[in-house]
Amino acid sequence: MKLKVLSLFPGIMEGFFESSIMAKAVERGLVSYTLTDIRDYATDKHHKCDDLVYGGGAGMLMLPGPLSAALEAAGSPGARTVYVTPGGRLFNQAYAAELAREPELVILCGRYEGVDQRIIDKYVSDEISIGDYVLSSGEVAAMVLVDAVYRLVPGVIRGESLDEESFTDGLLEYPQYTRPAVYDNMKVPDVLVSGHHANIVKWRMKKRLEKTLLYRPDLLQGKGLEGELRAMILELIGQGGEA
Ligand code: SAM
Repeated sequence: MKLKVLSLFPGIMEGFFESSIMAKAVERGLVSYTLTDIRDYATDKHHKCDDLVYGGGAGMLMLPGPLSAALEAAGSPGARTVYVTPGGRLFNQAYAAELAREPELVILCGRYEGVDQRIIDKYVSDEISIGDYVLSSGEVAAMVLVDAVYRLVPGVIRGESLDEESFTDGLLEYPQYTRPAVYDNMKVPDVLVSGHHANIVKWRMKKRLEKTLLYRPDLLQGKGLEGELRAMILELIGQGGEA
């Protein structure tokens, strides 16, 4: 997958792209990336990239000229082009999986009050919000988006590691434990050291349902749980969410 991120402050993202799993994915040729400084495409001697908003109001807006030149230089024709913005469609795991199937993603980071609408109209295929809050700039949002997407590119992370993650099948993940078996007087649940695989699977599913019910009951709506799962949910509800 080719990732092309356009920003007024690309330096913010360098460490992310040069570290850990991303660095390995790049080294293995699974991901390639470019970080473009939009200011390089400003044509006046002060490299101006923002101006006042028509109609009045606080703050500045990113100028269409440098943005357009940077986008023309970056994107292959037809490439999926994302503008990260609080005014976009809410990002989630299913959306990340959809984007992970693209061969190329162009990602535009906003600053100030955002970008001129004509840039969105002309170049952007997806306006994406990472959550219902306002960040001061798009670089952090772009890194969140890229991080959620590239790890789903086949080969970046072992498939089994992704199978039981939160959201993969619409539930949150079960609690996990590592050594030591007793930490600060807290014991690892007996079932996890019992060696009884079927009971471990059952315990984990119960914990996933319990956690989802507690923090994200919206994820269970319309899921149509049947059989044993339904019985588990009814039992949990009967116990006031405690198991
Ligand atoms: N005036 C904009 C509004 O009210 O919707 C907010 C602009 S914000 C201060 C500056 C930039 O940060 C945006 O252009 C966008 O790129 C990024 N940003 C802020 N919050 C975001 C969010 N929740 N999701 C994605 N990007 C965000």
